[in-house]
Amino acid sequence: MLRAPARIETNPLEFMDVGVPEPAEGEVLVRVHACGVCRTDLHVIEGELPPRKSPVIPGHQVVGKIERLGKNSRRFALGARVGVAWLHRTDGTCEYCRAGAENLCDNPLFTGYSVEGGYAEYIVAPQDFVYAIPEGFPDEQAAPLLCAGIIGFRSLRLSGVKAGARLGFYGFGAAAHVAIQVALHWGVEVYASTRDARHQKLALELGAAWAGGTLAEPPKKLDAAIVFAPAGEIVPAALKALKKGGVLVLGGIHMSPIPSFDYDLLYQERMIRSVANNTRQDGEDFLRVAAEIPIHTHVQIFGLGDANRALNALKNDAIPGAAVLRVSA
Ligand SMILES: [Zn+2]
Ligand SMILES: [Zn+2]
Repeated sequence: MLRAPARIETNPLEFMDVGVPEPAEGEVLVRVHACGVCRTDLHVIEGELPPRKSPVIPGHQVVGKIERLGKNSRRFALGARVGVAWLHRTDGTCEYCRAGAENLCDNPLFTGYSVEGGYAEYIVAPQDFVYAIPEGFPDEQAAPLLCAGIIGFRSLRLSGVKAGARLGFYGFGAAAHVAIQVALHWGVEVYASTRDARHQKLALELGAAWAGGTLAEPPKKLDAAIVFAPAGEIVPAALKALKKGGVLVLGGIHMSPIPSFDYDLLYQERMIRSVANNTRQDGEDFLRVAAEIPIHTHVQIFGLGDANRALNALKNDAIPGAAVLRVSA
């Protein structure tokens, strides 16, 4: 439980007993087995995102089993293994929802930010925003698919890459280590720029054609690049690596200020765009592809009471792949 935003070095998450939430109409109660740790959790905890609920239980990459059904909840059976992700619910009525862009909803609620999240034994969620988890993924391996995986997938989609393309990743954490597996499956060549040597090594092990430092220039011009690291100074460097007409996708919810740069870096129809949340369709499509490939997530497992330690490790680049909290079996 986070009482108020604070630097993660002060270990601000408190381990405490809270009541089991009640599933309302159309909701389900999920017994949490595992919850992935996301950089967005760090942005929530450290107050880089303005608080929406205080205190709050963070966590939005939840895998568990349905233990109770709210009134009129019939989509899943009791005991079904499901996932709860960042988009807790939308209003379904705003112009964006009506246009099929529910990721941009004017009145969204977010798991572990505007409602209680999954660093807990139980969580409630609307059945319509809950995902069936494909068989074959152990709970801990499935957890990072729910944000790192889905957001990486939406970033790949927005990059427009197709077979034969060259794609750059800036930052090689949880999202990139899943996205590279999808990109290679599509026949795309991946170039990984990341500051930590362990992350460069993981990128090469997973099949990257090249890995180098964050601001190092890849050996070939790229058709597109995705920036996963929350550092604005990467933007001009990544633009420099793009071919004419190339697309730069910013995959994070928060980024430090972007320095000014010469128009030459953008001219020739290069494009910069951000990624905001995901639609449920992105999630369903991604989980299907993830099972087909099948994706293998590299996870480092922590106990629920060790959430502060997991987040400190994430902040210090000490997690190759994804950190996951094991809550119960
Ligand atoms: Zn809406
Ligand atoms: Zn996330």
